[in-house]
Amino acid sequence: MHKCKVVAIANQKGGVGKTTTTFNLGVGLVRNGFRVLLIDLDPQGNLTMCCGYKNPDDLKTTVSSIMMNVANKEDFNITEGILNHVEGVNLIPANIKLMDIEQKLAQNPVKELILKKYLDRIKARYDYIIIDCMPGLGIATVNALSAADSVIIPMQSQYFALKGLGQLTRTIRNVQRELNPRLKIDGILLTLVARNTNLAHDTEKLARSVFGEKIRIFNSKIPLTVKCAETNVVCRSIFSYKRRSRAAQEFADFTREVIDLG
Ligand code: ADP
Ligand code: MG
Repeated sequence: MHKCKVVAIANQKGGVGKTTTTFNLGVGLVRNGFRVLLIDLDPQGNLTMCCGYKNPDDLKTTVSSIMMNVANKEDFNITEGILNHVEGVNLIPANIKLMDIEQKLAQNPVKELILKKYLDRIKARYDYIIIDCMPGLGIATVNALSAADSVIIPMQSQYFALKGLGQLTRTIRNVQRELNPRLKIDGILLTLVARNTNLAHDTEKLARSVFGEKIRIFNSKIPLTVKCAETNVVCRSIFSYKRRSRAAQEFADFTREVIDLG
């Protein structure tokens, strides 16, 4: 039977590499022969811009218009407005309209499950759906966690980075209990890892000692390098932009680790 895995890329902190991870993992999976849909679930539209759509606010069909169609039980074409990136990923974009989704869904009795209802309809077309969450743990992120089979947590390699994770893991546990019992944590991906610094090394050791048995820490680590930051600007994955770089190697290894999780 065909199975589509839905993965949420989440961390309530901004600037930890969620969008960069979503985009490069997505392209990495395409390069391994999988059909991939990316979902931008951040009103800043960074993933949408990464994919080459530089003015997200001009787009008519976005994740929020789709979610409102579902919430209002409108009849609509489920593939309308899905965009493409030249490297083979499909994208549901986001823009500023996602800002007031909390308000718009306030009266909806199943407001946490709107995205899931949509994904259940579109899943058959994909092998992986990867959701780029916004910072924060509001209704959009809860929708992502409710729709997902698993979560990947990008964590920047800094000493205080571990602090915010308690709040995130509590939210994940609440969602597991109330909304989505099959939700798993696939693991923590260390990002922005400065080479050969004690700080990066200590953060990794600390993370492994804190989460050791409970939460996997991926063996691959994403190095802190301007090449990664540039991918967002040139709208290409690290695999095509700097294919011989260590960052490309680490993203390829990380993609392999994700595939091997099944
Ligand atoms: P988030 O989605 O969690 O806010 P982003 O993926 O947008 O994080 O990354 C935050 C910023 O850091 C962006 O400007 C991005 O270009 C940059 N960046 C991401 N990954 C790296 C990296 N490995 N090395 C250097 N800069 C990076
Ligand atoms: Mg982002």
